[in-house]
Amino acid sequence: MKLGAIEAGGTKFVVAIGNENGEVLERDSFPTTTPEETMNNIFKFFDGKNVEAIGLGCFGPIDPDLKSETYGYITTTPKPGWGHYNIVGALQEHYPQMPIGFDTDVNGAALGEAYFGAAKGLDSALYLTIGTGIGGGAIVEGNLVHGLLHPEMGHMYLERREDDTYKGKCPYHGTCFEGLAAGPAVEERWGVKGKDLPVDHPAWDLEAWYIAQALAIYVLTISPKKIILGGGIMHQSQLFPMIHKYLQERLNGYIQKDEITTDAIKDYIVWPELGDNAGVCGALALAKLALERQRN
Ligand code: ZN
Repeated sequence: MKLGAIEAGGTKFVVAIGNENGEVLERDSFPTTTPEETMNNIFKFFDGKNVEAIGLGCFGPIDPDLKSETYGYITTTPKPGWGHYNIVGALQEHYPQMPIGFDTDVNGAALGEAYFGAAKGLDSALYLTIGTGIGGGAIVEGNLVHGLLHPEMGHMYLERREDDTYKGKCPYHGTCFEGLAAGPAVEERWGVKGKDLPVDHPAWDLEAWYIAQALAIYVLTISPKKIILGGGIMHQSQLFPMIHKYLQERLNGYIQKDEITTDAIKDYIVWPELGDNAGVCGALALAKLALERQRN
């Protein structure tokens, strides 16, 4: 089965052909310019390829609600030309019968990990990306969580650690999770980009403390069976053992599951199995889901 994948980012688009097992057979990418030019590049890539469905994991915010009048729109992005743009409509107009799966890039990545990666076979998982921003996607009882819009897991308020006086980077909330722990916050707090900080720098202990605080809230609210942490910051692999320790401390024995209370926590909070293919495989997963929906 041939499936199409589009990973729509603010700076570049990645397009690919793959299959129902998440294997990528062919890919290309081009910079994000005007909607018209970008869509034409997409059509040039997919025309004549006979894919059975296309999945689109998209930068946001977007409207993924099938029942909404603005379903398929990118909504309030400051990116010129893309605000209130009906990207699914443009695709559907060019490929009238094509099943199209559409969701946020991070929801796509979560679904990709659940179909093909670290959460394969599980009906419950959380995927979090911690990089330039922080976003999360959750699978609960086999389905991606939506609702009024889509979760914005990076923007919940966190308690600031006593020794941290940083004012926070989020223009909306100051010291929300993203405002305290995303890449730009790390850089502003320490005056150096995260990738240039030594692995034993105190920045990483603080970073792990904030990530663990956020994970405790997700464990207590959505009770995921697996937590997958991706994004540029998580390339600092020294963070994982510190996050494990701080999460155990914070939950303080309240959640009596081996995945939390024992060394099994190292298999509970993990790096994405799909690695840097997460975006494209996520879009393939969205295509697969769209096809399954059409058949049912
Ligand atoms: Zn915020």
